[in-house]
Amino acid sequence: MDERPVAATDDAADAGAEAVSAIRLRRLSREYGERLALREVDLELAEGETLALLGPNGSGKSTMLRILATLLRPTSGEVEVLGCQLPDESWKLRGRIGYLGHEPLLYRDLTGRENLVLQARLHGIPGDEASARIEHDLELLEMSRRADDRVAGFSAGMRQRIAICRAVIHRPTLLLLDEPDSNLDPEGRELSRSLIGPAEGRTRVLVSHEPERAIAEADSVVRLDRAGRVEQTDHNLRQGPAGSGTPG
Ligand code: ADP
Ligand code: MG
Repeated sequence: MDERPVAATDDAADAGAEAVSAIRLRRLSREYGERLALREVDLELAEGETLALLGPNGSGKSTMLRILATLLRPTSGEVEVLGCQLPDESWKLRGRIGYLGHEPLLYRDLTGRENLVLQARLHGIPGDEASARIEHDLELLEMSRRADDRVAGFSAGMRQRIAICRAVIHRPTLLLLDEPDSNLDPEGRELSRSLIGPAEGRTRVLVSHEPERAIAEADSVVRLDRAGRVEQTDHNLRQGPAGSGTPG
């Protein structure tokens, strides 16, 4: 029962000074049959930072996110997420990552609220805590009024708002966001920031086909080319919130 998680993140957090890796990829490759979607990708992301993952259609962005989310196995290479080696330690990670993919992963015949209650149960969140979070998040995304309607009757943007609530109901340490603004109107984009936007201490991988938007809120950028290779990496785009990087 009291088997402890891999110590890397906890111990390093105590140590303080050094940036802790939330994600470390070494020569990660992924094939679909004959097709190579990711080629020997090296990448590192520190805790509390946002990585913008950019690239044209088919460059492997979603594939990478699905691997990080433990939904897809790497073909070769090393993948470490929050101190866990994938795919072997996937089971340790599931409660600590929040994944928002292309599909909203909602049951269409259930209401918005029922979907969230179900997801909270799957994560073992106690009932009253779950209710409080659900009301809070629905309020934030201005979905309280429609939360008891069936998802089947929602517009795509409304579905995306509920999908965002679903992705963070367990208050994950690491957010994996695949084009999170999809189908959202400007108001929806703005409202969603409180749950999935840049915030102090929040670690995110942000896939976007709108480079300017993503880069504006990123600490580092990795750009993939059409062949699934890292074409370009930029670090330290923002001053760290802790002020460790202040000049002088
Ligand atoms: P992106 O998200 O950057 O648009 P993807 O990761 O979705 O790219 O796809 C990368 C490549 O892998 C593409 O060539 C795509 O056709 C291929 N691919 C993705 N998913 C599958 C799959 N389930 N089966 C076969 N090929 C796939
Ligand atoms: Mg994609």
